Amino acid sequence: IPRTIAIDGQSAAGKSTLGALLAAELGYLYFDTGVMYRALALAALRAGIDPDDEAALTALAHRLTIDVTAPTVTDGRQYTVLIDGEDVTWAIRDPDVERIVSRTARFPAVRREMIRQQQAIGRRGRVVMVGRDIGTVVMPDADLKIYLQASLTERARRRLAELRSRNIEMSLEQVAAALAERDALDAHVAQPADDAIILVNDGLTPAEEVAWVLQQFAN
Ligand code: C5P
Repeated sequence: IPRTIAIDGQSAAGKSTLGALLAAELGYLYFDTGVMYRALALAALRAGIDPDDEAALTALAHRLTIDVTAPTVTDGRQYTVLIDGEDVTWAIRDPDVERIVSRTARFPAVRREMIRQQQAIGRRGRVVMVGRDIGTVVMPDADLKIYLQASLTERARRRLAELRSRNIEMSLEQVAAALAERDALDAHVAQPADDAIILVNDGLTPAEEVAWVLQQFAN
């Protein structure tokens, strides 16, 4: 059984659904690295920092304490995200955050700070880590690497359903356009590792995906 599992892929490809289920199945820590970039973007918005101001963002990344803990409330969350002790678990999911997160995440100095924290978690093992560059940069030695793919339409449908469940109204076209924009900005980091297994999950249920992954290391 792999000690470390990396799951990468584009936005709304189903990484967090698969990652959380797999971690629960194995009794591993589930760690979604996207929350760190989202927390930084939220803090930048609140502080009025320009998402193109690399120096200010880097300073912010060093200053913030971003914590991810077991859920502190039962409201459908998979974990609790804290910025300097404040619960921002839902706030980091806002469309305003999604509009700028890929811009704030593009700076190497910002990424270095995030990656340093992610690697510290990875070194402890027994972890399913989810993101864009986990198999390539954060945990290049991961025991199992999965790269999830789904069509833009499928991803937009899933994201729309998530937004509706939180009473946020957007059209399918708007959601697809926002995802496509993020795909383009994230393309420089969101590439499959050479040794990643590609899983195309259009039309698969989460349970089918978990079964498929467990099958990979049964062999
Ligand atoms: O996965 P999620 O949609 O929460 O990620 C939000 C954004 O954070 C991504 O669109 C990407 O810009 C950035 N990100 C990243 N590297 C990661 C995880 C997320 O650049 N490992």
